[in-house]
Amino acid sequence: MKTATSENKGLARKLADSGLRMTTQREHVYNTLLEQTDHPSADDVYLRAKADMPEISMATVYNTLDALVKCGLIKQVNVERSATRYCSNLKEHCHFFCEECGNIHDVNFKKDKGALPLRIPKHLIPTQVDISIRGHCSNPVNCPNRAEN
Ligand SMILES: [Zn+2]
Repeated sequence: MKTATSENKGLARKLADSGLRMTTQREHVYNTLLEQTDHPSADDVYLRAKADMPEISMATVYNTLDALVKCGLIKQVNVERSATRYCSNLKEHCHFFCEECGNIHDVNFKKDKGALPLRIPKHLIPTQVDISIRGHCSNPVNCPNRAEN
């Protein structure tokens, strides 16, 4: 079993703040999300988590993902017509969805947030920006489905 990292101490604290106990299974699901930050679906997380912990159930994975979202440790990424995906990158960023291969890429904001290309009415104060971008990968190597066209 892995020793508790500072991240996992943060996990225990955040779970406790939401009235939840740290369990080996919750820790394992969280570590699975940190290991591969490719915005997996709940099914992907289940399959990956199961590889190292065969006894873990689908329900436990779903409930843990739910708890981690409520704790603010991961974010849900919703792309129309497909299953909810999960993002463990807590830095402010937006998502680029490739319509060809289905991959979701993190896109960071430039440092100067005043430069957002949005005309926000003066009476509205943004506290969080969620932007999603659709398109396709420019490199066929990174986007296998596109290469077939
Ligand atoms: Zn992300």
